[in-house]
Amino acid sequence: MALDQLAIDRLRAVAVAPGQNFVDGQHCMPRSGQAMDSISPIDGRVLTSIPASDAADVDAAVAAARRAQPGWAGLAPARRGRILQEIGARIDAEADALAVLGVQDNGTEIAMAHKAEPLSAAATFRYYGELADKGYGEIAPTAPGTLGLVHREPLGVIGAIVPWNFPLMIGAWKVAAALAAGNSVVLKPAETASLTLLRLAQICAMAGLPDGVFNVVAGTGAEAGDALARHMDVDALAFTGSGATGRKLMEAAAQSNLKRVYLELGGKSPLVVFADAPDLEAAAKTAVGAIFRNAGQVCVAASRLLVETSIHADFVARICDLAGEMKLGDPLDLATQSGAIASETQMTSVLAAIDRGHSEGAELRLGGRRRDMPGFFIDPTVFDNAPAQSSLVQREIFGPVLAVQPFATEEAAVALANGTAYGLAAGVFTADLARAHRMVSRLRAGVVHVNTYGGTDLTVPLGGIGQSGNGHDKSTHALDKYTNLKTAWIKL
Ligand code: ADP
Repeated sequence: MALDQLAIDRLRAVAVAPGQNFVDGQHCMPRSGQAMDSISPIDGRVLTSIPASDAADVDAAVAAARRAQPGWAGLAPARRGRILQEIGARIDAEADALAVLGVQDNGTEIAMAHKAEPLSAAATFRYYGELADKGYGEIAPTAPGTLGLVHREPLGVIGAIVPWNFPLMIGAWKVAAALAAGNSVVLKPAETASLTLLRLAQICAMAGLPDGVFNVVAGTGAEAGDALARHMDVDALAFTGSGATGRKLMEAAAQSNLKRVYLELGGKSPLVVFADAPDLEAAAKTAVGAIFRNAGQVCVAASRLLVETSIHADFVARICDLAGEMKLGDPLDLATQSGAIASETQMTSVLAAIDRGHSEGAELRLGGRRRDMPGFFIDPTVFDNAPAQSSLVQREIFGPVLAVQPFATEEAAVALANGTAYGLAAGVFTADLARAHRMVSRLRAGVVHVNTYGGTDLTVPLGGIGQSGNGHDKSTHALDKYTNLKTAWIKL
């Protein structure tokens, strides 16, 4: 579905209504009545307000989810599937409005946000809707005289905590899979990107999802998020966000009811370009998009570029040309290629990382500054010859900052690529098929792209290893996170 500038401009002219929680099939404000400002990163102004919920609000949502879950799990799976598909259709029907609302909230360039947010969320609900009645149990190969049946059961109440970079897409990955498996969900969106998920709850209700099956409670991570993580009646947490928060969630689970904790955390993903890449110009374009789209606020962003020494100087020069030509600015302009940093806090954190990069001896080749305009924008930034142990190479920045490192041999490339605590994504450009396969097996990452970067669809899982997390979103495998295996052992 094409999106046109006129439609975007009409939608952005409409005042954004204050967000409200959605609990037990109804809009509601937090019991405390507290709200907080939602600031648009496009101009730094207050866009609207969202609820500042506390533990009592989370309690009410979990109680509603608990009450609703058996009825939802008790529906015929095909019926559950039809409701999920109807949610997908309704998201599609208001995709333009959802995309504009989301961009006003988090600053992703609209051309990307439209596809990655509503359209991808709609596809996710359809995908899991179709799967709802396709999961079979097992008959175990036991000895004669017994029958071993393996049933798949929903876990119960899932707590989902999601970030601000792609709230609808990531939220849908968790919610649609959890609902398809017969669970109910309480979701806590990020404080800087709650509006589209609050709207999603309403869309779900209009599509026929029973009251209480999907609840959205907005608030801070420290208060509403923590209350969900510590709740004694939540069976599992499904999280995407930073490693620091992931650690807190594991602690909260350990200190409460030992709920399962699924973490999709950050990355410092390497893109390795060999001199024999089939098309170096295409590789350079891909590398630029892989770090600078959505201003680098992408968990699989290729924030490290490893280039074979013989092409290093020319390749980096080309990267800087291409990145310098990117159209940075108003994310609601369809021509914009790199949008805003989602919040002032995040912008400050990215600028601090750039300062550290200078002090660590890397060579700044491009950018390095906040753009002089309203809102939160940072120029695409390229550091060359970044030292292997520098924070530029070792720490996720989650902004438009690329660290380049040259390498001389395949062995050295693997060592550099695997030289961080992360393991989310990686990429390789080479025309050598044997080398491509070797790299896929040697690179420590949940996904390795070959002669491309960042492409994906719902049929393949996404998940990290090492400090990039555990568990997988997307594909049939995501259902494993939301189901329990129960054995029936029967004497015949
Ligand atoms: P990011 O750096 O992507 O913002 P965060 O981990 O800070 O990642 O945030 C991701 C989500 O985690 C947000 O919804 C945020 O509110 C939530 N969050 C942050 N701190 C906590 C916490 N202590 N407990 C639970 N949730 C939290």
